[in-house]
Amino acid sequence: MEWSGTYLGKTPMVYCPREYIRPGNSQGRHSLRSVLYTLATGERLPAGKIIRPRCWNERCVHEDHFQMLDRTEQSGEQSSRGELQTTKARISRTLLLRSRSKIDRFKADAIKASTDSHEVEAARYGVSVQTITAIRRGDAWAEVLPAASVFTWGGSLS
Ligand SMILES: [Zn+2]
Repeated sequence: MEWSGTYLGKTPMVYCPREYIRPGNSQGRHSLRSVLYTLATGERLPAGKIIRPRCWNERCVHEDHFQMLDRTEQSGEQSSRGELQTTKARISRTLLLRSRSKIDRFKADAIKASTDSHEVEAARYGVSVQTITAIRRGDAWAEVLPAASVFTWGGSLS
């Protein structure tokens, strides 16, 4: 889920009125991810913490993809992006693919069950033949994240 509002650099931003959610919060543009955190928990994001999307899509504002990091951990998290063979990296790539995908789980199941050719399925769903091949092999929709949430959010905001 990509933010369609304004950005400050790569950070999704949202305009908030004075004293939004909590007394003392200032009017103006704030990081959308920290605002979502405050909405979900009633607390401010702790000092020195940042929220990053685990799918590595800088535009992503899907709460299930959020992880809280120390500012000092951020550089390590960024450098780990080069290690594409690690489990963490594989999960993150899967999340990124899903966030951009035209295919949901039900369509993926239908594609796996169908006896039509890869080409027919690709045309049906508006995706590449390679995508259909990957789905039928199980790569694109592997069961990697049965309980992905970092936070216990009180229901989806999407
Ligand atoms: Zn995401």
